[in-house]
Amino acid sequence: MPTCPRCQSALDAAMVHCPRCQLVLKAHGHPGIPLHRALDGEPLCATCRYHADDSCNFPQRPQAQTCTLYRPPIQETEEHRFPPRRGFLGQRWRQYQGLGAVLALLLISLVVVLLQG
Ligand code: SF4
Ligand SMILES: [Zn+2]
Repeated sequence: MPTCPRCQSALDAAMVHCPRCQLVLKAHGHPGIPLHRALDGEPLCATCRYHADDSCNFPQRPQAQTCTLYRPPIQETEEHRFPPRRGFLGQRWRQYQGLGAVLALLLISLVVVLLQG
């Protein structure tokens, strides 16, 4: 269950304000728009993905203490570091898929010609 970042009261996920301390929890009074909030005084932008890739043009950047679009940096997962390896044949098959299709058509044509002749 989520808790209020200011007073630690238990919250319902759809609450727009904290019922105890009235902290605004959602943006624009809409339960579907989360309002991210800096908790330690450090601006959210310091760890935001959109600040890192320089794609944010919000006026509050780079000092945003609250933001609706904050995105944490992409965590490097095991899969990112060690992408699943395909077997040798799997890789080769993908490389020569088109050639394989042409050869299959030629083979089918040859069989048809031989059966008719
Ligand atoms: S989206 Fe918000 S938190 Fe992220 S860089 Fe822009 S203003 Fe900062
Ligand atoms: Zn509260």
